[in-house]
Amino acid sequence: MKYDYTNTIDYLLDWYDLNARILPWRENPKPYYVWISEIMLQQTRVEAVKSYFERFITTLPDIEALANAKEEVLLKLWEGLGYYNRVRNLQKAAKVIVEDYNKEFPGDYNALQKLPGIGSYTAGAIASIAFSIPEPAVDGNVLRVLKRVAESYDDITKEKVKKELEQDLREIMPKDRPGDYNQSLMELGATICIPNGRPLCEKCPIMHLCKAFRNGVQMQIPVKPEKKPRKIEHRTILLIEQDKTYAIRKRQEKGLLAGLWELPSLDGQLTEKKLVDYLITQELRYDKITPLGEAKHIFSHIEWHMTGYYVRIQCDEGLREAENYHSLKPSLLSSCVFADTKKIETDYALPSAYGAFLKYLK
Ligand code: SF4
Repeated sequence: MKYDYTNTIDYLLDWYDLNARILPWRENPKPYYVWISEIMLQQTRVEAVKSYFERFITTLPDIEALANAKEEVLLKLWEGLGYYNRVRNLQKAAKVIVEDYNKEFPGDYNALQKLPGIGSYTAGAIASIAFSIPEPAVDGNVLRVLKRVAESYDDITKEKVKKELEQDLREIMPKDRPGDYNQSLMELGATICIPNGRPLCEKCPIMHLCKAFRNGVQMQIPVKPEKKPRKIEHRTILLIEQDKTYAIRKRQEKGLLAGLWELPSLDGQLTEKKLVDYLITQELRYDKITPLGEAKHIFSHIEWHMTGYYVRIQCDEGLREAENYHSLKPSLLSSCVFADTKKIETDYALPSAYGAFLKYLK
């Protein structure tokens, strides 16, 4: 049954006026800033996004700079945020804005949605916050809050459910403060009507309107189908050092972590003995192996269970200076480059999946 959210508006706006967190992109809600922050916030908590955001807009202060940035610079700015296609889409959209819109963000909800990587949520956020256009911005936070208020047991992973909520909100959006209303819902979802654990209903400005609270069923809403268990992949990660430089290689251009740099790795979680056997088959001369322990990294559909080893390989100056040095490298290293710690930090984007082992570089 359709729920009329009109009554929530004044309570939420009053609450937002008193409780909105001070955030860098809120102080100056230019379309560019709103856009970058919203894309970053899709995957990371506000506190963590602040430093990423500051670094991004300092390096790439406007749409033109983003459109012209080198891919390595972009990936480095996004390093640790995950979902790297999002930053590639940012650049694709920036190029469209430069070429088709004379470097100015289109102040139009439908035009925004046609840009790469911008769906209805981001279009609604930019349209309402930066252009005061009364369009909703419905993400997981907003769905959770409003489905609880209405005590709705709809499956919120269904696109139809989201579209219906967008339409219901579109009809009641306050014309004078659409951006603040959207942000008040997001803020309530992030700080009071929280995703994990019990919502803090006693602090909620719309508690008296909330049917889930009234009936004590907050924890049963929102409804989502059980997720399929993640696929588990076992990997052996190698931190290979030669002369204070470390082996890294570029991942394939398609698939998980496409086009990023990685530490060389092997299938399976090898024991030290098995690793030694492997290095011998590779004719790789090493003089030290140290286990670095185990680590786990969780992606949306896959989990990596990893075992790491530090391997110091022997430098052979004669080999290094040979013209055909690259073809002489053992196949494990054939696609690797060697870089020192400083260069890895500044020039190469290595995903946080390797963080448990990369920390040994420091
Ligand atoms: S009363 Fe509780 S469940 Fe309802 S919207 Fe507020 S925080 Fe969420």
